[in-house]
Amino acid sequence: MKKIAILGSTGSIGTQTLEIVRENKDIEVLGLAAGSNIRLLEEQIREFKPRLVAVWEEEKAKELRVLAADLDVEIVSGMEGLIRVSVLEETEILVTAIVGMIGIRPTIEAVKAGKDIALANKETLVTAGHIIMPLAKERHVSILPVDSEHSAIFQALRGNEKKALHKILLTASGGPFRGKKQEELLNIRVEDALKHPNWSMGQKITIDSSTMVNKGLEVMEARWLFDVEIDQIQVVIQPQSMIHSMVEYKDGAVMAQLGTPDMKLPIQYALYYPQRRYLKGDRLDFWSIGRLDFERPDMDTFYALLLAYEAGREGGTLPTVFNAANELAVKMFLNREIKYLEITEIIEDCMRAHKNIENPALEEILTVEAEVYERIESRR
Ligand code: NDP
Ligand code: MG
Repeated sequence: MKKIAILGSTGSIGTQTLEIVRENKDIEVLGLAAGSNIRLLEEQIREFKPRLVAVWEEEKAKELRVLAADLDVEIVSGMEGLIRVSVLEETEILVTAIVGMIGIRPTIEAVKAGKDIALANKETLVTAGHIIMPLAKERHVSILPVDSEHSAIFQALRGNEKKALHKILLTASGGPFRGKKQEELLNIRVEDALKHPNWSMGQKITIDSSTMVNKGLEVMEARWLFDVEIDQIQVVIQPQSMIHSMVEYKDGAVMAQLGTPDMKLPIQYALYYPQRRYLKGDRLDFWSIGRLDFERPDMDTFYALLLAYEAGREGGTLPTVFNAANELAVKMFLNREIKYLEITEIIEDCMRAHKNIENPALEEILTVEAEVYERIESRR
């Protein structure tokens, strides 16, 4: 039995991870963590029988203790609770499917405790990659990508010499507003931005995909996962989302991984790596696909991608500023407090105001996050 724990078990990636556990009978779930969805957590506890569950808010944890009173499970709360789930004694793999840079501390603690990480929570690597990657190396921990593009790159790198890698071709669907210009985006509503053409995901990443912030975060994520320079990563629009990403070698050979847009494939691959297992679902039918298209990203309209390249190139705390500004701006947009285009404007404003700190320690990252929030709050 493979033993895992999941941070963010009630979300899009978390529930799909549990579907894989349900299909394969050889994974045991020892720990779960979520924010506040205790109804779903209760169902998950009854079905998967974890021994430890963390709920962010203590009030909700209290309610869950009542709901699960007949079960043999310990329910904890807050950051301390999240960390306890992350370092559970017998866990081999921690699936980090929590959203946002709140995942930094639990991820670092899990790596320190020698857990392999199936990483969906990209915000953590973007802001603390310089801490997590060397630590993982030192502790002989594998960071297994769950993000579909990074899983594709990881797969395309297998069996080839890493030193022969020339560049990474990171594909993007272009999101729901591909082809539109700034003036057409002025009055975008929350409902419009939540309609992704190919993928069904959590709200934050769906908004991020529409602004191309998601691709920007993925560029920085790839930089850490595959130890390449930011400018070795080229974003290619592939509107059908069938090519999940590619790598180009020095001799010009390009390796790609293709598939239907289904996150269960990269999740399962991370859980069983290096094994491949059967996975239910649609297969690509090249006779009916007919064609695949490619485009250059429009970085004038979707200049968040340009800002991400700048943040990634500069490094230090600038990626934290990019990410934290986006996290709060997306929340405000979802609450209908700001307009769509303000998301990227806020990111740029915070980046321009920031004095970069090189090689920041964890505390400095968290301080910069708080400062960014203060700056945005003071604009209201
Ligand atoms: P969702 O919004 O669907 O789920 C987020 C999960 O995190 C929920 O379980 C939520 O709990 C939990 N959570 C939020 N805040 C806290 C907290 N303070 N403490 C504990 N748990 C918390 O997100 P996704 O599944 O879409 O995304 C998760 C991560 O994976 C993100 O980093 C995203 O970028 C990445 N990713 C997602 C993909 C996808 O297809 N969805 C694809 C590639 C990457 P609750 O439900 O109780 O609020
Ligand atoms: Mg992705």
